[in-house]
Amino acid sequence: MADKKFPLTSFSSVALHAAGSENAEYSHLTPIYATSTFTFDTAQQGMERFAGKDKENIYSRWGNPTFKAAEQTIAALEAFGLKDAGGNPLQLKALLHASGQAAMTTMFMSLLKTGDNIMSHFSLYGGTYELMHKVLEANGINTIIVDMRDLNLVEDTIKKNKIKLLHIETPANPTIQCVDIEAVSKLAKQHDIIVTVDNTFATPYLQQPFKYDVDFVFHSTTKFLNGHGSAIGGVLIGKDIEFMKTKAWKWHALLGGNANPFDAYLLIQGMKTLEVRMDRHCSNAEKVAAFLSNHNGVAHVNYTGLESHPDYTIAKKQMAHFGPMMSFELKGGLEAGKKFIDKLQMCVRAVSLGTADTLLSHPASMTHYSVPREERIRFGITDGLIRMSVGIENVNDILNDLEQAMG
Ligand SMILES: *Cc1c(COP(=O)(O)O)cnc(C)c1O
Repeated sequence: MADKKFPLTSFSSVALHAAGSENAEYSHLTPIYATSTFTFDTAQQGMERFAGKDKENIYSRWGNPTFKAAEQTIAALEAFGLKDAGGNPLQLKALLHASGQAAMTTMFMSLLKTGDNIMSHFSLYGGTYELMHKVLEANGINTIIVDMRDLNLVEDTIKKNKIKLLHIETPANPTIQCVDIEAVSKLAKQHDIIVTVDNTFATPYLQQPFKYDVDFVFHSTTKFLNGHGSAIGGVLIGKDIEFMKTKAWKWHALLGGNANPFDAYLLIQGMKTLEVRMDRHCSNAEKVAAFLSNHNGVAHVNYTGLESHPDYTIAKKQMAHFGPMMSFELKGGLEAGKKFIDKLQMCVRAVSLGTADTLLSHPASMTHYSVPREERIRFGITDGLIRMSVGIENVNDILNDLEQAMG
């Protein structure tokens, strides 16, 4: 780790140097500690580790040095430049998981119990929606879905129901709708409600929810943090360090959603270039959105960087750039969309997002297939909607491919 007294003044320096890298063999890169368990010199030492007096490793489901390096980096990036209530640099703790879904499960299970109500926005990642309506519901936890961009509706719902937790995903999948984190968090705090934010689409480079006093941030690291589509992963980050070290850690260990050392290593390498990748992703996306919105074959484009997007102002307020994600609908609806997707030559037909190359998918038949059609349409996920994760290729190649596929 860089000397604590030496100030790391930029996001990329933190991404590169925040994690501990000391190891017995002087390896420059964080080694892949591919081991299930860790040895004790003596029985006494083993006892002290279990008692928490000796902080060294015991067993990889409970923690591993490769996970720890990734966790330190993510915590430092989410806290970058932020202060706590006392004016000191904000301290956060991250717990790495096998997937975004595993991190979300730890988050909800450690915070909620049977009989609790939670509230969320109506445009959500498909897996989040299903987790709420299948797993949480089976455990007696009720989800109330509203349009959280309507602050009066949020306040009304809080007053009419006893809400325990408010979950925000912004920008939201796949409509790119944005919820005002500051305003919603303020309302929640007045009623003692926990606020959790899915920051997957934005990454800490574009948006830092802890700035607005939220309680937990969650990421699918599978996406932009890893950045290359080489591993599934997730992370839960909290500012209540005690809670993170005790209950959140315990639930994560008991539910068994730990990461694995190789995937953690890939994540560490990916995060080193987050800033430069995101800059390129975002500037490419602005050009792609301009191209699509001016194309006469396109019915509409959902991209917060377009002033026509209803959430342009909120995105501008809480994000450093408008991000790499967009969705759009062709004038010919579903049939035109399918034809267009089939004709792509360079851009890749695949679900997921946040890889270095450009990916396109069709939410209604893929990621949101399990959401009932009526609900889907209400969320803005129309049959012909195409979602695009704009990559870091030369933007002219992306535009040329879109143009020829449109023809
Ligand atoms: C991918 C994704 C998830 C789920 O993460 P996995 O790593 O696939 O388990 C949750 N939220 C958002 C916004 C996502 O894009």
